[in-house]
Amino acid sequence: MNEIARPANLPNNLDAFWMPYTANRAFKAAPRMLARAAGMFYYTNDNREVLDGTAGLWCVNAGHGRREIVEAIQQQAATMDFAPTFQMGHPMAFQAAARLAEILPAGLDRVFFTNSGSESADTALKIALAYHRARGEGQRVRLVGRERGYHGVGFGGISVGGISPNRKQFGALLPYVDHLPHTHAPEHNAFTRGTPAWGGHLADALEGIVALHGADTIAAVMVEPVAGSTGVLVPPEGYLRRLRDICTRHGILLIFDEVITGFGRMGANFGAERLGVVPDLMTMAKGLTNAAVPMGAVAASEAIYSAIVDGAPAGIELFHGYTYSGHPLASAAAIATLDLHRAEDLPGRALAMEPYWEGAMHSLRGLPNVVDIRNAGLIAGIELQPRAGKPTDRAVRVFQRCFDNGLLVRTTGDIVALSPPLIVERGHVDRIVETLGEAIRAEAA
Ligand code: PLP
Repeated sequence: MNEIARPANLPNNLDAFWMPYTANRAFKAAPRMLARAAGMFYYTNDNREVLDGTAGLWCVNAGHGRREIVEAIQQQAATMDFAPTFQMGHPMAFQAAARLAEILPAGLDRVFFTNSGSESADTALKIALAYHRARGEGQRVRLVGRERGYHGVGFGGISVGGISPNRKQFGALLPYVDHLPHTHAPEHNAFTRGTPAWGGHLADALEGIVALHGADTIAAVMVEPVAGSTGVLVPPEGYLRRLRDICTRHGILLIFDEVITGFGRMGANFGAERLGVVPDLMTMAKGLTNAAVPMGAVAASEAIYSAIVDGAPAGIELFHGYTYSGHPLASAAAIATLDLHRAEDLPGRALAMEPYWEGAMHSLRGLPNVVDIRNAGLIAGIELQPRAGKPTDRAVRVFQRCFDNGLLVRTTGDIVALSPPLIVERGHVDRIVETLGEAIRAEAA
């Protein structure tokens, strides 16, 4: 782990930074500042230790301040800070893609680099559209997402995504988008440990969309294997397999958004591997570089790559890309992260910790207002009964209490979401349960 740096002082001026996904006014009235991080912990600007129950934002899977990643970035910055990847190349980007391909599910070995999960989502949707067009099926323009799905904040992602506030504020969304029903069914599945038994048939709603519009108008279906940002919805038994089969039957591409479920989080390299269903396209970000440098990626099957690339006339085949696609620093961070991923067997660690994690999370059952607990891999969602007339208030206060008592959790609606770094140990898990349990009890009224 890295040497601990000195804490930063609180800045004088909080006005200029318009904070993302934040209640700016409330935050600026009572700021919570993180100044440094090492291993499983953050340290605040006043040097308080905060256990990271969320791996930052579901992304620091190998723990904070990993020396190997820090040194790889430092060395690359000194060697070559930037090089374009439009009509030029540099070895690190090719190496990063090849290394990533080694752990991707068999058959998904072509990698397009982006800088975030949002860019990955929009890139995957565009590749799906370009694929059908390249094969003479340009009428396949319809995209199918799922209620409560989160695919970032680009226009493609919010359109296919199904989280209402992310869409309502903006009005103009992509046309030709349909949504599958979400799979949250507490009346059947509350307090299920791992995969819920009820709800596999919900995938059959895709047949309804096919019947309504015709399969030959549908380009792709995009879902998260486990929906994270909406509050941890674990797919019911057989659900993803049914989606896969319907897509295959109708020539529709299946896209898995593995921005959260990738890189060991599910106790395997990817959710696809753990859940036994391989998509045609897969989006990634977050854990790819341990979040040390922004980077995202889309993995495509060779069939998709060759339909677009080999099917095009001479010249540029895909009119898409980012200045920073395959950025040298991000590539260096990805290679170092993938080295750690393998050397420390992060998926194996997560898998070994999963039963303890599951037991610990479900031990919160019975606390006041806990109405459901869900878990998959090293992810958990603890759903609280909202306060009458004050949705989100209880969870926000639980979050603040946890933070004041040295634990970082995340909330969405009245759901507390947890996703610690994969190096988490039993003692950390116990501390998460104790601190969170106390906070839930304190907000019982
Ligand atoms: N897709 C999923 C499944 C995510 O969970 C997220 C972020 O949490 C994104 C996409 C967006 O990623 P980013 O914030 O890097 O754009």
